[in-house]
Amino acid sequence: MDPVPTGASGPVGGRGAGAMIEAESGPTVERRMDEASGNIVKSGVPAVSPNLADYALSCRLFDWRQATSELAGLPGGGVNIAHEAVDRHVLEGRGEHIALRCVPPSGAVVTLSYTRLAALSNRFANGLHRLGVRAGDRVFTLLGRCPELYVAVLGTLKNKSVLCPLFSAFGPDPVVQRMTLGDARVLVTTQALYQRKIADRRAGLPGLEHVVIVGPSTADLPGTVRWDDLMEAASEEFTIPATDPEDPALLHFTSGTTGRPKGAVHVHGAVAAHRVTAEYALDLHPDDVYWCTADPGWVTGMSYGVIAPLAAGVTVVVDEGEFDAARWYRVLESEHVTVWYTAPTAIRMLMRATPRTGPFDLPRSHDLSALRFIASVGEPLNPEAVRWGADVLGLPIHDNYWQTETGCIVIANLAACDIRPGSMGRPLPGFQAEVLAADEQGRPVRDGAGRVRPVTDPAGQGVLALRPGWPSMFRGYLDDEERYRSAFVDGWYVTGDLVRRDSDGYLWFVGRADDVIKSAGHLIGPFEVESALMEHPAVAEAGVIGRPDPVAGTVVKAFVSLRPGFDPGPELCTDILAFARRKLGPAVAPREVAFDQNLPKTRSGKVMRRLLRAREQGLPEGDTSTLESGSA
Ligand code: ATP
Ligand code: MG
Repeated sequence: MDPVPTGASGPVGGRGAGAMIEAESGPTVERRMDEASGNIVKSGVPAVSPNLADYALSCRLFDWRQATSELAGLPGGGVNIAHEAVDRHVLEGRGEHIALRCVPPSGAVVTLSYTRLAALSNRFANGLHRLGVRAGDRVFTLLGRCPELYVAVLGTLKNKSVLCPLFSAFGPDPVVQRMTLGDARVLVTTQALYQRKIADRRAGLPGLEHVVIVGPSTADLPGTVRWDDLMEAASEEFTIPATDPEDPALLHFTSGTTGRPKGAVHVHGAVAAHRVTAEYALDLHPDDVYWCTADPGWVTGMSYGVIAPLAAGVTVVVDEGEFDAARWYRVLESEHVTVWYTAPTAIRMLMRATPRTGPFDLPRSHDLSALRFIASVGEPLNPEAVRWGADVLGLPIHDNYWQTETGCIVIANLAACDIRPGSMGRPLPGFQAEVLAADEQGRPVRDGAGRVRPVTDPAGQGVLALRPGWPSMFRGYLDDEERYRSAFVDGWYVTGDLVRRDSDGYLWFVGRADDVIKSAGHLIGPFEVESALMEHPAVAEAGVIGRPDPVAGTVVKAFVSLRPGFDPGPELCTDILAFARRKLGPAVAPREVAFDQNLPKTRSGKVMRRLLRAREQGLPEGDTSTLESGSA
């Protein structure tokens, strides 16, 4: 297999158009705001080779079979994620490159080379094998960001067992619920998490045969095995068994933004998509120092915190600390991070902590010169945040869109292309996206022959649909065949997200189908209203819902949290309402504003509008297992 392109010379892109285009060396790319369009445009030639030099040509020539054939593959044939992520680099002579830089909240940074990571994951695979854990058995992790998590993930995949990561801050019920649904055979966790969340409930998990305790184990915990003991007894040599690209590899539960979380099953062949999207959307090159803030318990933290960056051969920063804007700036500086993958909620936290003017000029007091760009995912990125990035940090922020189900980034303001603030960007090469005419529930409308119809008017909105066929597409929802089948209509996978597509093919998020508000005959996307509210100097974050109203049917109600230094009160309320009316017009602007410094969010950082709606109407809150504690 061809090595990943390494920098300012040689062929770039690897497949499709990029392979034919020679990268030029020259001045660093510059991005500036185009005053007429408001877009962030690039000029000059990138200092690092762009992974995607010609978007249209790359889309035309892209071929997933070729992308898959470019994987290293197992020596005996087949594809295994862990081999692509680690062992391959060792075989290719890059074993001494640093794979992980683990930054604890205090104390020294721990580094692991690719060679070391390969050896440790071999040990864990051997350890599992010795416990009798086999292909297809489910291994759950309930761990924070730590080196052992990476070793456990990769070792599990080497053993062909199926990995299911859980968020370590989940309460006992969500943990047990997911382990029951996922038929957990092994759990890797810490003593504290085990004692708090599992020990008392273990009798209710008869399938859970082995619990591996990471870190100090001071108590006598019957039915557990210590990580150190398991690892010490295991050999560093392991031969990955033959793995078919269609063999199951990962089980991911969705964020539960719209209801009960669903378990999505992914296969080993998905790594081809991780590798390609790491190049196209995140522009990763082996010399990059990359940091993803997502928790490994979510699909982003696994696909783009572990698999994709390792498959791209970069150095991954593993930050073990809490969500905290000041600390993020410090880590970005001290680790010389070149690409940062985070979420709108984190960017809004930075905005809150970083006034545009004033004595406390956080980013300028840190040297972020290594950072090439920021990428964002998980929920809509308000244009205000993109402009803030350009103005205050001097950095482009590239929005990315995908779902647990898609397994990889599918739409992005690509690293090599101009950014349209407020837009999710365009489909990556290899993805065919369509905007389908939909009913009010977001279901595609079918004609008499059962066919769906695309929306052609650039002002018109519809449901985003994707043509299946890329390797990381989910292969099913756990024990819910019916729900899986109903996600496909007339050959399209229907995302449930409403979007618009402009005449240049950029997609604009309107809202989740079930969040869209119908008020006085208008269909209103909450994202548009929230973004307008965020342009008010007092507003840090907003969540917008429809509230039933006897006269209008539904009126728009906004919940906002305020930036520091602003007092909630009737005057500010009137001012925000008037501001929104001027920007959005009376039909779309909220009729009511409520102040709420703790908007309910999922643990992956998404505003839970369904909870705001339920609370407003005094209805049951439904599944709150993924509610961030503190956002009450
Ligand atoms: P559930 O399916 O359980 O309700 P969820 O949809 O939030 O939860 P995820 O798979 O983690 O679970 O999130 C995918 C969803 O996140 C997308 O369908 C979309 O609604 C939203 N999303 C992700 N990225 C973006 C983005 N860049 N812009 C707008 N929305 C986004
Ligand atoms: Mg979803």
